[in-house]
Amino acid sequence: MRVTTAFKHLLRLPGVNVRGVVFEKDRVIVTVALRRRRLVCPLCDHSTRARYDSSDVDSRWRHLDLGAWRLEIRARLRRLSCPTHGVRVEGVPFARHRSEFTRDFEDLVAWLAAKTDKSAIEWMLRIAWRTVGAIVQRVVADELDPERLDQLFAIGIDEVSWRKQHNYLTLVSNHRSGKVVWGAEGKDTNACDGFFTELGKERSARLSTVSMDMGKAFLKSVRKEDHAPQATICIDPFHVVALATKALDDVRRAGWNDMRTLGDKAAKKFKDARWSLMKNPDNLTDKQAVTLRRLKRRGGDLWRAYRLKESCRAIFSGDLDPDEVEELLDRLISQAQRSRLEPFVKLAKTLRDNRDGILAAIRLGINNGRAEGLNNVVRLIARRAYGFHSAEPAIALVMLCCGPITLRLPYEGLL
Ligand SMILES: [Zn+2]
Repeated sequence: MRVTTAFKHLLRLPGVNVRGVVFEKDRVIVTVALRRRRLVCPLCDHSTRARYDSSDVDSRWRHLDLGAWRLEIRARLRRLSCPTHGVRVEGVPFARHRSEFTRDFEDLVAWLAAKTDKSAIEWMLRIAWRTVGAIVQRVVADELDPERLDQLFAIGIDEVSWRKQHNYLTLVSNHRSGKVVWGAEGKDTNACDGFFTELGKERSARLSTVSMDMGKAFLKSVRKEDHAPQATICIDPFHVVALATKALDDVRRAGWNDMRTLGDKAAKKFKDARWSLMKNPDNLTDKQAVTLRRLKRRGGDLWRAYRLKESCRAIFSGDLDPDEVEELLDRLISQAQRSRLEPFVKLAKTLRDNRDGILAAIRLGINNGRAEGLNNVVRLIARRAYGFHSAEPAIALVMLCCGPITLRLPYEGLL
């Protein structure tokens, strides 16, 4: 078998013949030629036999490594004139437009980006994280389900912090599929407006339920005339529990600061108590359980705050029917109101203001486990996106991991 034939079988690049193979010090260079005679626009289906001129363009792409060898594909491409897109270098079937990598290489990067962390990908594939961001954007633009905004009835709108707490992304998820379907930079009414603009009046009018946190920004957008004023607003219960947990943390921190000013040695122990208090008691380590018992014996404000947080968690555990939730929520609000713990008095007011939305979520059975699960994954992915320098690749990474998208490894085309 000739070496060019062997490489044609090895590389499995669609639509090309291998013309030459050269081994260099650090890479293998494979020169290919397109089999088709017609020139195809890289941006649309337009094809023609006519070349725009005789100035060809030498292009190169990185393909999947061959063992320890880097593999570079080279080809000489022609130019055409597309009636829509003007003069362009012809598209190739084995690489996305404007990419320096083959589709197979990019699909592998995308698959890994959805599964593993930054440094593993950088080391394994010998590419910079910024390059990963650009690849992820191209793959998402190509593979994301174009019908993801059709058939939306119950959605959740959420914000996630991205990069040092000062940057945010607004994400919209489909409650039925549990997938993120839309994302944008920012967390204000404007960001949310962008979603409804893209969704359009007709599809917005079909929304029956919109769930969110207790902030006012998204609510303001949803209530606008051409958006979804008809939708029932729900407050995702996990936001309620998160708020109670934060109130507990505020009480803990205030107590710790008091102790520290007294120079108490116990202050250190108190600080370590954080996880014993925040975690679900079923998930405590033995040591944390001991700390929790100690805090119980000590009593006082911190223990009262803990009890309030735990009742809140129990109310929204998913085991109770809507009437029980309503009764217990009202009881919790009045207990928090009378607690004389400032963060919980504030919590009581917020819960009272949002009571209807909280109970609507319970009655409509918004699947909180799924919403919370998605929320946790999104937060994890957003942390991984910290290394990107703009919001676009961060949004693309979230869509890659949590959106309606099918990722394929290069060998899957073989099966
Ligand atoms: Zn075109």
